[in-house]
Amino acid sequence: MKIAVYAVRYKGKWNLRLSVDIRVDMTWWLRQGKDQGNAVERWVLLGDELPLSWGVSLCGRFRGLAEMERWGDRQWWAYILSQLKNELVLESSNGERILSGGVENICIWDRQQGWISRTKHGNEGRETIGTVRSIQNRKLATGVDGLDMEGLTGQANELTHLLAGRQLLVPEAEALLAEAAPDLEHTWRSAAQLAYLQGRLSFAAGLAPAPRARWSAARRHELRCNRCGSGKVHRTSCASCGRKACAYCETCLTLGRSRECSLLLRGTAKPAMPRTAEAALAENLDRWGLSPAQRAAAEVALSFLAAPPRRVRKCSRPEGQWQRARELFRRSMRVRQELGAAAAHGSTLAGYKQSSPRSGECAWGVAGRQLPDSAFERFLLWAVTGAGKTEMMFPLLQHVLERGGTALVATPRRDVVLELAPRLAVAFPQVSMVTLYGGSAERWQRGQLTLATTHQLLRYRQAFDLVVIDEIDAFPYHNDPMLAFATQAVCKQEGKFIFLSATPPRPLQKEAARGQLPHAKVPVRFHRHPLPVPIRLGTASVHHWLQKDQLPASFIQHLYISIQRGAQVFLFVTRISHIQGLVKLLIRQLPDIPIAGTSSQDEERTAKVRLFRATEIRVLVTTTILERGVTVPRSDVYILDADSSLFDEASLVQMAGRAGRSKDDPCGNVIFISPQWTSGQKRAIKQIKRMNALARKKGYLKLTKH
Ligand SMILES: [Zn+2]
Ligand SMILES: [Zn+2]
Repeated sequence: MKIAVYAVRYKGKWNLRLSVDIRVDMTWWLRQGKDQGNAVERWVLLGDELPLSWGVSLCGRFRGLAEMERWGDRQWWAYILSQLKNELVLESSNGERILSGGVENICIWDRQQGWISRTKHGNEGRETIGTVRSIQNRKLATGVDGLDMEGLTGQANELTHLLAGRQLLVPEAEALLAEAAPDLEHTWRSAAQLAYLQGRLSFAAGLAPAPRARWSAARRHELRCNRCGSGKVHRTSCASCGRKACAYCETCLTLGRSRECSLLLRGTAKPAMPRTAEAALAENLDRWGLSPAQRAAAEVALSFLAAPPRRVRKCSRPEGQWQRARELFRRSMRVRQELGAAAAHGSTLAGYKQSSPRSGECAWGVAGRQLPDSAFERFLLWAVTGAGKTEMMFPLLQHVLERGGTALVATPRRDVVLELAPRLAVAFPQVSMVTLYGGSAERWQRGQLTLATTHQLLRYRQAFDLVVIDEIDAFPYHNDPMLAFATQAVCKQEGKFIFLSATPPRPLQKEAARGQLPHAKVPVRFHRHPLPVPIRLGTASVHHWLQKDQLPASFIQHLYISIQRGAQVFLFVTRISHIQGLVKLLIRQLPDIPIAGTSSQDEERTAKVRLFRATEIRVLVTTTILERGVTVPRSDVYILDADSSLFDEASLVQMAGRAGRSKDDPCGNVIFISPQWTSGQKRAIKQIKRMNALARKKGYLKLTKH
C-alpha cells in the first residue's frame, strides 16, 4: 500500500512520521489545543502517497538536522531523493513515476507563517493542494475540520484493545474487526492513526531490510519478513504500491501475503500478570491426581513459574536479535542441503519441506543461550514417552490462569490440538479458551487460554504470560531459528516458556546438564514400569534384503515370537520406497497374518492406524510419520536400518517409546536391526537406561519383576 510521510519539529526536535490518514495528523499537530499547536514549530508533508516500504525506510534513516528548520520545499525534495537513492535505483525509470508530483507534493507549515508561500508560484492557496488532493483521493467525506476527535478517541481505544498482543496485516486486522467491531471495519484507518500518534499502535512493513551487524557479510538489500522472520522472498510488480520489484515472503504465504509494502499493525504488549510472593503451591497439585514422579516435576516447574522474573530484559524488541538468528538460519539451511531429502513427516508451512530433527543446530537452544541479554526464561520438562505430560501441564496452566494471566499451549500438530482442546475445556471450565489451527472458526476470538498450532502464533506479539511448547523437538521450526524466533515474540517481556519433550534436542540437553537451563525430569511412565530397553540384531540392510528377495532368519524368528505373544508389530523403515517390497516379503513369510504398510503419502493412513489399533492389522510397516503420537497397547517395535543417518537419537527413542505403553503390557520388545552399531543407537539406549536408572533411584518404579 501507499502511505503519507511527514516531518514534524516539536519541542525543538525533528521527527518523521507515517500516516494512513493525514487528516488525523493535521488535526493532532496543527489544530489541537493552543498548547499543542504552539509546541509544533514546523510541519512538512514529504509525500502523501509513497510506497509504504519507502516511508518505513525514510523513518528508519531519519536524523534531525539543525538546518532543516530553514529548508524550503526544494531542499526537502532533494533530501528525499538522496535518502531513497537505493530504492530508486532498483526501480530505474519507474521511480520517478511513483514519486509523481515531485516537489509539488511537499507542503510546509510553520508556526509563525502558517502555510509557507512557495516563491515560484506566489499563491498561498496552492501549497495545501497536495494535502487536499490526498484527502480527496481517499474518498473521505470530511476534511480536516470535519473530524470528530471525541468519537475517534473512543474508536482508537477500542482498536487498541482489540489489537493488544497482536501483530496483523491489514486484511487480517479487517477480518478481525468485521467479527469483533463491525463499525470499525471500514473506518479503522483514522482510529489506527490516532492510536499510532498516541503511541499505542506501531506500524511496520511486512518485509524490511534485515539490520546489518558490522561483522556480517550480508548483502545490502537482504530482506526479512517481519511476521515470520524468513528471508525467503520473491519479487513481483505490485499494484498496491506501484513498484516493479515489491518483494513478498514465501514462507508465511498460507497466512496471507506479507509484502514489502504491506502494513503490519502491531498492538501494545498486554500488561504482565501480577506476581506475588507465595509459598503454598503444593495444594494446587492435589486436584490433578498426579503420580509421585509427575508431581515432583510439576512442583519444580511451579516454583519456576512463581519466581519473580530474573530481571527486565535490556532489549524489549525481539527485532534486535534478527542478525544472530539469520546467521543461524543460513547455517541450518546449509546443513539441511547437505542432508538432502529424508523420509517425510514435514512441516505444513509452504516452502519448508521436511525438516527432520537431526542437524545439530537447535533454534530454541541457541537463540536462548547465545542471546543472554534478551533470553526469555525457559524451563524444560523432560518427560519420557508415556509419562503423561499433558496432566503435568494442567497445574502450570492453573497457576497462571488463576492469577489472571494468559497462557498459550503451542503444539506442532493439528490432531494434538483437537485432542487436547476438550481435555483443557474440562480441566478449566471457567476459563475462556480459543482453539487455533488452519481453518479454525475461532481465529479472531480472544481467550485467557489459547491452544494453537505453530504458525497461528505469527499473529501474536507479546501476548502471553506463559508459553508452553509441546514436543519442542517435533516443531516444524526445529531447525529454523528465524521461525523459532518469531515464535518467541509471542511471549510477554516478563513471560516464561516451558518446553515439553521426551527427547529434547541435544543443545537443550547440554544446557540442562550444565545447569544453564532449569529443568525437571520425569523418568518413568505413568504406569510406573521401566521403559523397554532396545536390543540389537545385526543383519544386512533392508536394501540388501529386497535385492536378495529374502528376509533374514534371525529377524523372522523374533517376528514369530512377537506374533505368538499377541503383540502388535511396528516395523519402522527409513524409506517410503522400501515399504511395498517389504510388505510383499512379509506376506510371503507370514501368509496368515494381516500385514500393511503406510507412510505420509498414504491417503488411507488414518484408517490403517485405526485397523492396527483394533488388531485387524497385526504388522504395520511405516516411516517416522508414526514415531510419535500413536499409542497402541501391547506393541513390539522393530527399527530396520537403525544405523541410518535418517534415524537420530531422538527418533530412535521416540520409536522405541511406542512399546510397553499400556499397564497390561508394560514391557514390550524393542529391536534395533542394523548392519552397523552406530553412536545414535548407543546414545538412544543410553538415554533410555539412564532414565530407568533415575526412576529406580528415586523410587518411582513399581516393585515387580521384569
Ligand atoms: Zn513471512
Ligand atoms: Zn508493493
